[in-house]
Amino acid sequence: MQRIGVMTSGGDAPGMNANVRAVVRTGVSRGVQVFGIRDGFAGLISDEIIPMTSQSVGGIIGKGGTILGTARCEEFRDPAGRAKAAQTLRKHGIEGIVVCGGDGSFRGAHLLWKEHNIPVICTPGTIDNDLAGTDYTIGFDTAVNTALEAIDRIRDTAEAHRRTFIVEVMGRHSGFIALATAIGGGADAVLVPEIPPDIPRIISMVERRFAAGKRFSLIVVAEGVVIDDFPGAGSVAHILKKHGLDCRVSIIGHQQRGGAPTALDREFASLLGKEAVEELLRGGTNKMAGIVGKRVEFCDLEYSWREKKPIDMEVYRFISEAAI
Ligand code: ADP
Repeated sequence: MQRIGVMTSGGDAPGMNANVRAVVRTGVSRGVQVFGIRDGFAGLISDEIIPMTSQSVGGIIGKGGTILGTARCEEFRDPAGRAKAAQTLRKHGIEGIVVCGGDGSFRGAHLLWKEHNIPVICTPGTIDNDLAGTDYTIGFDTAVNTALEAIDRIRDTAEAHRRTFIVEVMGRHSGFIALATAIGGGADAVLVPEIPPDIPRIISMVERRFAAGKRFSLIVVAEGVVIDDFPGAGSVAHILKKHGLDCRVSIIGHQQRGGAPTALDREFASLLGKEAVEELLRGGTNKMAGIVGKRVEFCDLEYSWREKKPIDMEVYRFISEAAI
């Protein structure tokens, strides 16, 4: 292989730049020309391809977001859009690509390989950590640390006012961010989309804590939790208020996507980028590079979205057991 491409796609995640940097630097050190594809699949369709050098990725390792840009691209869902994308790659002589994104991007990459025989290796770039075949996804650690900073501040004001705080974190379909934030933030309860909420238990926990002289309670809720057709933290607040319990809602929101990536995100994103290129050059395709233990391992691309990665039930139970 003489020419490879790299793109970031779908939701942005801190650490994507470290991944791109590692792809470019590994490619350059192996004598391969590397091209950046702007704005994910959209850039493939509109032919926005830029030659990358070691210099073009200098100083980006500590930056959030993605220097290549990312986008959602409806046209790529259509076979005609994918044919255009494949044609752009052929025009530039690009023989294989590394795609950093989430399961949607992986499905797209899979089709590009299946329909047009373009080798693809994917790296898991999503703050949600909801891909099977990897313990970790790029951006997850930074998102959790951002949420923890917010929780630590919220705890100060909750304690001062003898209040219950319900903190909503990201996670439309999965509770990994909520769970990690709850255990790291010393929360008293956590609600995740994977497990039906036990509302009576939460109410009695809040009441017991106040009765035991605790000055506050903290409940972490993933945005994807739905109770009585109400989504997120608001639904829990509604119920607590009906039971006469004073509470406040704080939604951490998009802050979790931004900011400088943590040490862990930089390290793993770099390793994943390096190994993705090595695999592409070995002739691999239709695979995701993941972190298992502390090492990079590959799995079939389809495995990453077909298997449902389970949340850690021991952590889930510990949070409510440790509440009093
Ligand atoms: P993420 O990669 O973060 O999961 P999306 O689900 O938005 O984000 O997917 C990113 C892009 O991948 C979409 O905008 C679309 O271009 C492409 N994509 C997603 N799902 C498919 C699919 N089933 N077939 C083809 N392309 C897809």
